[in-house]
Amino acid sequence: MSDLMDALRLQVISCTKCNLSKSRTNAVAGKGNYNAEIMFIGEAPGRNEDLKGEPFVGVAGKILSEALEYAGLSRDDVFITNVVKCRPPNNRIPLEEEKNSCQQYLTGEIDIIKPKIICILGNTAYGSILGGDSITKNRGKIIKKNDQLYFLTIHPAAVIYTPSLKQILKDDIKTLVETLGKIKKGIQVETLS
Ligand code: URA
Ligand code: SF4
Repeated sequence: MSDLMDALRLQVISCTKCNLSKSRTNAVAGKGNYNAEIMFIGEAPGRNEDLKGEPFVGVAGKILSEALEYAGLSRDDVFITNVVKCRPPNNRIPLEEEKNSCQQYLTGEIDIIKPKIICILGNTAYGSILGGDSITKNRGKIIKKNDQLYFLTIHPAAVIYTPSLKQILKDDIKTLVETLGKIKKGIQVETLS
């Protein structure tokens, strides 16, 4: 199984399928536990991620780690990735064509990890994966699509601009962990489709 992920990672780090390959320093493949039950999906690498070649290692990553710890998880328990694997210039939102070009890698990561639940971080992942458009309105909800469960929450970077959102993110991640606990016990959870 890790052989498959290693092969996928090699494809990602040498990918030139879209224009973002021209401005990036490093393409950033997903990272974490290959047996993770929870997979987190953000938007795209930022400056620190581009420099290090690892997802969520900057300020937003620190906020995500704090929320994970609050819910009793460490980063080693989960798998963390992004919709787009290369940094868009000036951290602009990835373009439709960039998301489309990169989609096969995210799909590959999901197929290899087979998470019990996927946590969508913010509007880009929400729109790109589920076609949704207001994470603020829908955060905290669980969605079932094509037999895959998703949990919706805000992007950790939103907390940088609006500090009062930090507790919301932490409480959401706690709810996510509790939801996973219920699923594993076979308890029905309320979902939207
Ligand atoms: N923001 C993201 O969406 N992803 C990262 O990896 C870092 C910041
Ligand atoms: Fe390839 Fe994705 Fe990077 Fe574009 S963003 S070059 S598709 S890895």
